[in-house]
Amino acid sequence: MGTTILSIRSMKASILTIGTELLIGQTIDTNSAWLGSQLSKLGITILKTISIADDEETIIASLEDLVKASDLVYITGGLGPTKDDITKSALAKFLEVDMYFDDNQYEHIQAFFRGLGRDISPLHKAQCHFPVGTQFLDNALGTAPGMQFQHRDTIITSMPGVPYEMKSIFKANILPQLQQDSESLSYHEVTMHSAGLPESAIAERIQPILDNLPSSIDTAYLPSMGIVKIRMSTNVKADLEALETAVKTIVDTLEPHVYGYNGKSIASAVLDILEEKSLRLGIAESCTGGYLTHLITSIPGCSRQYTGTIIAYDNTVKVSELDVDQNLLDQHGAVSKEAVRAMVTGACHTLNTDVAISISGIAGPTGGTAEKPVGTVWISVGNSQKQLTRKFRLKKDRLLNIRYASNAALIMLRKFLLDL
Ligand code: AMP
Ligand code: MG
Repeated sequence: MGTTILSIRSMKASILTIGTELLIGQTIDTNSAWLGSQLSKLGITILKTISIADDEETIIASLEDLVKASDLVYITGGLGPTKDDITKSALAKFLEVDMYFDDNQYEHIQAFFRGLGRDISPLHKAQCHFPVGTQFLDNALGTAPGMQFQHRDTIITSMPGVPYEMKSIFKANILPQLQQDSESLSYHEVTMHSAGLPESAIAERIQPILDNLPSSIDTAYLPSMGIVKIRMSTNVKADLEALETAVKTIVDTLEPHVYGYNGKSIASAVLDILEEKSLRLGIAESCTGGYLTHLITSIPGCSRQYTGTIIAYDNTVKVSELDVDQNLLDQHGAVSKEAVRAMVTGACHTLNTDVAISISGIAGPTGGTAEKPVGTVWISVGNSQKQLTRKFRLKKDRLLNIRYASNAALIMLRKFLLDL
């Protein structure tokens, strides 16, 4: 067991998450995302990820399908002691083997419960039945061990659904073996993060560069909340240099829109620029209610550049804390160019900062008018001398609007700072 027949570079894996709760929106399947990222980092190609119910026929049919094209099949879920968990018996049927009672596992589980100062329950004793031929993977954090089976050319690994148990089994038993196999591998991945250009405009600009790359280099666009990530990867060592050169050329072509690499957040990029320019930031938030501040204060060390926030939700706070003129609010409304500009000036003054961001809008789903429909958001960045101000027409989803507006404000501040 564990002897890999293929070089890891050409290995194909599939992930099967089992649990009815995953299908009805009760539990979000985070296991496949985590396993997918672990395996792809090793250069293993993931062919398929599927989620299915705790149903014997479906489990067997899915396994039949997955083993056809996969060298590795990772299963999570359905190993609990209760009746709804049937992965083991379904596996035995699929492998055409009997179940047997494993004395060693029984000892092991008894010891686990002794460690907790508890007696083993009949349900847990019943859990010690396994398909004949099971290779056990130690579970340091729970009672259900991981299991491995060789089925023709495929290695099937079954792990509990509890995410921390699954991760611990994978890291302790599976990862070291895969890493050893992948030592000769040169999987390389770079993700560029860009802001301020839509996916289509990026694709148009960089397609000529991509057209001339070796075929081993994959490119993917991942747009979300005004940010487009461009991921490029290869698992061919000879193409590493071409990949690195392409990344440099793409960054130059998109200049100044790429703000970071490999997980960098826009808030962190903005704080870097503020630090470079020795500027301090204040914030005045209305409709985002502190979410933008949360993005900033999630970055360690932000206090070097960030001073504070006034959450000016009600107009009385805009007037009393940000010196916004009541007549201005009466004339233009709080969701207006005039209001956000006055809020920026007020925030710089009250918080004693060099620059400020202000956001005022109608997050929804109610509160819109014909003139200012739900999703209308005004954002201003700058200071009393110079400002960049924009109106956004977002959709009707309150939380999405809050997140989108906060990101948009950071993207605008980045532009403002670079143009200074
Ligand atoms: P099981 O091994 O099926 O008994 O799963 C135990 C618990 O793990 C369940 O209550 C689920 O909430 C959780 N779980 C199972 N599968 C997943 C999954 N794919 N992603 C995240 N959590 C899961
Ligand atoms: Mg279950």
